[in-house]
Amino acid sequence: MKKTDVLIVGSGCSGLYTALMLPDDIDITLITKSDLESNDSYLAQGGICMLKNENDYDSYFEDTLKAGHYENDRKSVDIMIRSSQGVIKNLISYGVDFQRDSEGQLEFTREGAHSDKRILFHEDITGKEITSHLLARVKEKDNVKLLEYTTLLDIVEEDNECKGAVVRMDNGEIKVISAKAVFLATGGVGGLYEHSTNFRHLTGDSLAIAIKHKMKLRDIDYVQIHPTTFYLEDSEERSFLISESVRGEGALLYDKNGKRFVNELLPRDLLTNAIHAQMEKDGTNFVWEDLRPIGEDELNSHFPNIVAYCKEHGFDPMKECIPVVPAQHYFMGGVWVDHFSHTSMKRLYAIGETACNGVHGRNRLASNSLLESLVFAERAAKHFTIQSSEIVIDEELYTDLNKYHYLDEIEEYNKKLVRSYVQNKIEKIKTA
Ligand SMILES: Cc1cc2nc3c(=O)[nH]c(=O)nc-3n(C[C@H](O)[C@H](O)[C@H](O)COP(=O)(O)OP(=O)(O)OC[C@H]3O[C@@H](n4cnc5c(N)ncnc54)[C@H](O)[C@@H]3O)c2cc1C
Repeated sequence: MKKTDVLIVGSGCSGLYTALMLPDDIDITLITKSDLESNDSYLAQGGICMLKNENDYDSYFEDTLKAGHYENDRKSVDIMIRSSQGVIKNLISYGVDFQRDSEGQLEFTREGAHSDKRILFHEDITGKEITSHLLARVKEKDNVKLLEYTTLLDIVEEDNECKGAVVRMDNGEIKVISAKAVFLATGGVGGLYEHSTNFRHLTGDSLAIAIKHKMKLRDIDYVQIHPTTFYLEDSEERSFLISESVRGEGALLYDKNGKRFVNELLPRDLLTNAIHAQMEKDGTNFVWEDLRPIGEDELNSHFPNIVAYCKEHGFDPMKECIPVVPAQHYFMGGVWVDHFSHTSMKRLYAIGETACNGVHGRNRLASNSLLESLVFAERAAKHFTIQSSEIVIDEELYTDLNKYHYLDEIEEYNKKLVRSYVQNKIEKIKTA
């Protein structure tokens, strides 16, 4: 394969939704560095926000801005909120099963820093429920070719115009692919940190490419630490998230003496600071979280996977507190994009966690990222579709492939490069 109309890099929710939003007569190639299901979109637990009704608009807008320290791009926030009902309608039409009440109406939950219940969920595996349905729909499309274990190494640029990409195929072969447009959907940067809730292979590869090609970046040092992940002594494992929803439903945090020390519903960054300060004061590596106020029925029905994980690791949340510690979780900054997810380079889009349209400001409000990924993926797809017929694809692209043969060195260099930009100010979360 030497050319494709559209190359999408990443099989998370943003990459998949883009593929679904493009017309059927566009030839699409979607690649992923790992298998199709190993991405953070599958890990999302808490849920996805939706504007419930017009009365909630101001409050939802204000909560998003307040969490983001008022550094958010207000137009992006407005677009996200206004587009939420359309996205949810599409998801339901794909078969996504959100929790409903006894009358069959959508049921909403709440997380930290939300002043009202406005989050749709499916048990504590909302991301898997959404993303598996997107993947199933994409697999039904004849115009989409899916390639696993195929890694983006670089883009091919001429005078600030993206003409295609250099990729490593699953057999190790390095290929150049011409495309009318490339969509970067490579997720976050958690793989650069020792403790992170993210998949280890998410190392900010698009950022490295953007830096090398002198593209515009935004809010590049805004990294979110999740206040509560399950504490494991000496573990190389990805940190397991104890969703914010459990605090929304009543879980409490205690110091080493079993005393509450903080308002559990503070925005993530403020709560993380408070937990770090308490650990410092107590001389501990974790604080305690008490899930018992939620009640056994709700714990079993809403959070079965969290309960199972805790039990597997020696703690029964029905009977005792569990140890929790902050870990790297989300990247608010990224490759700069406009309101149609277009980067500063022609024919190159960035979507999902890789991109930064300013919607989250300095700190993301819980359950806004799946929504933002889908809303802006759709806008990117529509923006491209309007221009598609005018773009002439290069039949052959020539680029010197020799420089891509030292892959280990390139990967290490890329990681160092991205780390030097994405400085995390919280020393306790070490970079790997
Ligand atoms: C534990 C956890 C819980 C979360 N809970 C929630 C929640 O409840 N609600 C919410 O809104 N958000 C939540 N989030 C955040 C949300 O899941 C992510 O921000 C979102 O899914 C990102 O989607 P994405 O498509 O941008 O990236 P991802 O889903 O991470 O996908 C990235 C893709 O890029 C591929 N890739 C990376 N580099 C390359 C490369 N060089 N070449 C080829 N492919 C590459 C990967 O293999 C992967 O397929 C959570 C995140 C985590 C980690």
